[in-house]
Amino acid sequence: MLILSHVHKAYQMGDNVIHALQDVNLTIESGDFVSIMGPSGSGKSTLMHVLGLLDVPDSGTYTIAGLEVSQQSEDELAVLRRGVIGFIFQQFNLLPRISAAENVAIPLLYSQGSMPLERARVLLQQVGLGNRLEHHSNEMSGGQQQRVAIARALINQPKIIFADEPTGNLDSSSEKEIMQVLSDLNKQGITIVIVTHEESIGQQTKRIIRMLDGAIVSDERLAPIDNTHLKMAELSTTAEPAQVQSKFKQLLLHFNLGLRNLLINKVRTALSMLGILIGVGAVVAMLALGRGAQNAIEDQLASLGSNLLVLRPGAVRIGGAAVQEEVGKVTRLTFEDSLALREVPLVRETAAIVDGHVQVVYLNRNWHTSILGVTTAYPRMHNANPVAGRFFTDEENLTRSRVAILGATVIREIFGDRNPLGEFIKINRVSFQVIGVLPTKGHAGPQDQDNRVIVPLNTAMRRLLGKNYVDIIEIEAVSPEAVAKVEDVVIQVMNARHHVRENDLDSSFQLRNMAEVQAAMASSATTMAVLLAFIAAISLLVGGIGIMNIMLVSVTERTREIGLRKAVGAKRSDILTQFLVEAIVISVMGGVLGIVLAWVSTVVLTTITGWPTAISFLSVALAFLFSTAVGLVFGIYPARKASKLPPIEALRYE
Ligand code: ADP
Ligand code: MG
Repeated sequence: MLILSHVHKAYQMGDNVIHALQDVNLTIESGDFVSIMGPSGSGKSTLMHVLGLLDVPDSGTYTIAGLEVSQQSEDELAVLRRGVIGFIFQQFNLLPRISAAENVAIPLLYSQGSMPLERARVLLQQVGLGNRLEHHSNEMSGGQQQRVAIARALINQPKIIFADEPTGNLDSSSEKEIMQVLSDLNKQGITIVIVTHEESIGQQTKRIIRMLDGAIVSDERLAPIDNTHLKMAELSTTAEPAQVQSKFKQLLLHFNLGLRNLLINKVRTALSMLGILIGVGAVVAMLALGRGAQNAIEDQLASLGSNLLVLRPGAVRIGGAAVQEEVGKVTRLTFEDSLALREVPLVRETAAIVDGHVQVVYLNRNWHTSILGVTTAYPRMHNANPVAGRFFTDEENLTRSRVAILGATVIREIFGDRNPLGEFIKINRVSFQVIGVLPTKGHAGPQDQDNRVIVPLNTAMRRLLGKNYVDIIEIEAVSPEAVAKVEDVVIQVMNARHHVRENDLDSSFQLRNMAEVQAAMASSATTMAVLLAFIAAISLLVGGIGIMNIMLVSVTERTREIGLRKAVGAKRSDILTQFLVEAIVISVMGGVLGIVLAWVSTVVLTTITGWPTAISFLSVALAFLFSTAVGLVFGIYPARKASKLPPIEALRYE
């Protein structure tokens, strides 16, 4: 039983207030078949929406089955809508792209958390559409669509059906069929309220209520209420079916529906996924690159031994006031320094090194590479005995022989597949003979250690680089434990030899042991990788904003769908879940594809450039979690927006 008492509803239109309902008092008994008539704009639809719980009155009370509507929460209203009420709209409001049977089953999604189609098929059979079960709404005539809508209104076994001009968009033969269906339903005890402006339709009902300017002007009984079914028609609000699916199954169903929805808009889905894909891919790949470089540096330095010290000039001027012309020069190392340091106790060996960049030419091929001038101690200290040919001798160093040992990259670039041994090349236009091939060392981070040429120290200093000093002196202690003692003595000896001024003693020379070098290189590789990953993370953020954009468009586009879902009983949380699931599906799929992309690109990168990479499980897990979080965070706003729409406003949206 429905009771309206002193109900008012007004709309503000610019400066005008339109009174759509004015002091409406109305009681509708169970089992009645009521038509509401009146000219256009008289408030019929507004009344119907209030009765059907799609809209709320400004003032007055509405009681349905003893429940005062204004006292009910939004979710309680949703439960009432799906348990007690069936709504039939003039514009049918079917969802496109899903079958008739699925359209009919939609309310079940909200009443029991699943969409079994059996009952939907039976109902479609009853309204005469047994042969149209799989058709989409755009493949059906208006009359057929309205019968699908009637079947949908019936699926939850409502006690009342509201129909707002259900035949308004139909031809006269369809009109007859629909009226037949409705009066049959009434005979089964279902209360029916129908809006119409056609007198002939009103005459087929049991009671005609006429409206004008928002007020009821007449109320006429045409036929008595048939009480035979009244027991069954008794309103009950404990209408929740017993068989409600578990939350997990419901979520699974939402997931399934979300996926279908995303597949319908393939291009749009792919585009919004692209942002996440690139973001996750870039983050994982960058971290893999950093980790790979770090690993390589560690491996390589570990093999060098921890008793090695590297001496370089500091950034300090030498000479006192007495030697004015020396001011401005940096402390330069000399070959003689390396000989003197060899005499320091606990030092096993020293090696002087010069380095530089040169152009190497063979026939018509030329290549830019780095060059090292070293002594014969080098191959043992650096584990770099030639894999083919030989190293140079002390004799060749003393006589500044023009002989060279080449790294693998240099050989590949200028010799290709040819055997380089014995060939003559030009280094900075000076002719050299190739006498050996260096062992392959691989990359240390982005630095290719095979892209180098080694020549005798004296040859490099005098013939190629024009230096009378050396760049680096490597000092090998007798044991790792001796390193600390050696360090102090080396600095003392060097300061004495170079007459370093009192207050420059600490910064005159740079002496580092391999452990420090390793730490410095590894940390700079990590810093680089973190920096790159940070930039990549920004693209993830942009990807998230992309998802939000797409979801917002989707919410706007599907406003009517949201309205319809609410009208058939969706709670706010149902709508929220639906849109959140879609956002998360996009970002999780994007994340997974991004991880695949990262894997492929690191493999390709390593193959092409030889840079070492290592994808860590942690970075994959992080990227995955992060992309899911992006979907969640950026999906929440549009999803909330969708869930907050009042049903009737959403349905009216064009
Ligand atoms: P009917 O269904 O009898 O044609 P309605 O109930 O739809 O009439 O509308 C009653 C009055 O309220 C009309 O004057 C209409 O213009 C106005 N109205 C209805 N809905 C709105 C709305 N959302 N905003 C402003 N005015 C509205
Ligand atoms: Mg209307």
